[in-house]
Amino acid sequence: MEIRDRIYIDGAWVPSSGTGTIDVINSTTEEVMGRVPAGTAEDVARAVAAAKAAFPAWADTPREERAKYLQRISEGLGARTEELAATIAREVGMPLTLSRIIQVGLPMMTFGSMPQILDTFGFEERIGNSLVVREPVGVVGCITPWNYPLHQIAAKVGPALAAGCTVVLKPSEVAPLNAFILAEIIDAVGLPPGGFNLVCGTGPVVGEAIASHPDVDMVSFTGSTRAGRRVSELASATVKRVTLELGGKSPNVILDDADLERAVTDGVGKCFLNSGQTCSALTRMLVPRSRLAEAEEIAVRAAETYTPGDPFADTTRLGPLVSAAQRERVRAYIAKGIEEGAKLLTGGIEPPEGLERGYFVRPTVFSEVRPDMTIAQEEIFGPVLSIIPYTTEEEAIEIANGTIYGLAGGVWSADPDR
Ligand code: NAD
Repeated sequence: MEIRDRIYIDGAWVPSSGTGTIDVINSTTEEVMGRVPAGTAEDVARAVAAAKAAFPAWADTPREERAKYLQRISEGLGARTEELAATIAREVGMPLTLSRIIQVGLPMMTFGSMPQILDTFGFEERIGNSLVVREPVGVVGCITPWNYPLHQIAAKVGPALAAGCTVVLKPSEVAPLNAFILAEIIDAVGLPPGGFNLVCGTGPVVGEAIASHPDVDMVSFTGSTRAGRRVSELASATVKRVTLELGGKSPNVILDDADLERAVTDGVGKCFLNSGQTCSALTRMLVPRSRLAEAEEIAVRAAETYTPGDPFADTTRLGPLVSAAQRERVRAYIAKGIEEGAKLLTGGIEPPEGLERGYFVRPTVFSEVRPDMTIAQEEIFGPVLSIIPYTTEEEAIEIANGTIYGLAGGVWSADPDR
């Protein structure tokens, strides 16, 4: 059990002003694996003040110096790969081997790529008689989700620090422990106090305090559409810059000349990665009706290789979902698909055999999904693939574009020009 009773402000581990705590649950055992402080608006105010005070000096630090810190953070992550990969495998449920590569390798790469970016980025550009200078915006509030927790943090904190901004991070309260390890690494590399601050807690308390704070110059948010809308509403009162990365229902259009075996197998993988808890997951597979039966057979075969189980077991290809809430949500969507008349090819609402404990959901594939069905329109965030048949290419494009989302997409054909 990992107990964290401090937050990181102004280069020091300090107690929260509140007394609340948040339990972190192991998604495989459903047991409490850790505990973190439930931060407060007052904690946010302290962190923002520290970040604001640190900003001028950090912005003035030569780029090469900033690059060195970022490189050292990357190395620090590398040195703690095993601990981080295991922590995230427990928090989120991703199989350990993938967790190592994706959940730790990617953040390492992000921090590690900053020196080169700093070296080549055009901070100054001459246009005619004018010099355009790109300056750091100031204090950046980073609010991140649980699905690729450290990656989402790295993708915000790395570039912000590189640019010369200072940061207040609020990691997801569902998977916060990895962020504490990152804070230890940042502390160990000796980043100037106030440059990076960590306040954990819930969205409505800590997240909203960050979005509303007048001294936060920019808020970078990744998460659900619902919370993103709220963040941008709150941020508008102080006219902050806001970036939102929200949900998805991404289409994978397989054209009639595609190598079906490859396209469908790959598509199932792109839907099921991280048990489907991926914002860019290709969750709608569009298949020509003339080849539907073939595609169904391949999809079932591919899906059945996603053996659910303990993220620490070598045989596991599909870990549990992150939480009980997420499991219930996904099961409800599967029930909805059945109710609306989609054809269930494999999977279903029952937990996988022998895995009644842990937030497991069967790898599930529906076919004959109509574009207007709930499971074709709403983000499920679980291992659930919807195969949607189409007749003409025009119809496929229309279906592909026919949701409120627009995050990612794929097209398969034997002919690159197509
Ligand atoms: P979430 O919106 O519940 O939480 C994301 C973060 O926002 C958390 O830190 C949470 O505490 C905070 N938050 C919640 N309510 C808030 C509020 N009212 N004000 C301020 N902050 C608030 O999302 P989640 O469940 O952690 O993540 C899943 C969602 O994230 C999915 O919809 C997924 O598609 C999306 N996502 C998108 C991307 C992308 O790059 N587009 C990447 C990963 C996840």
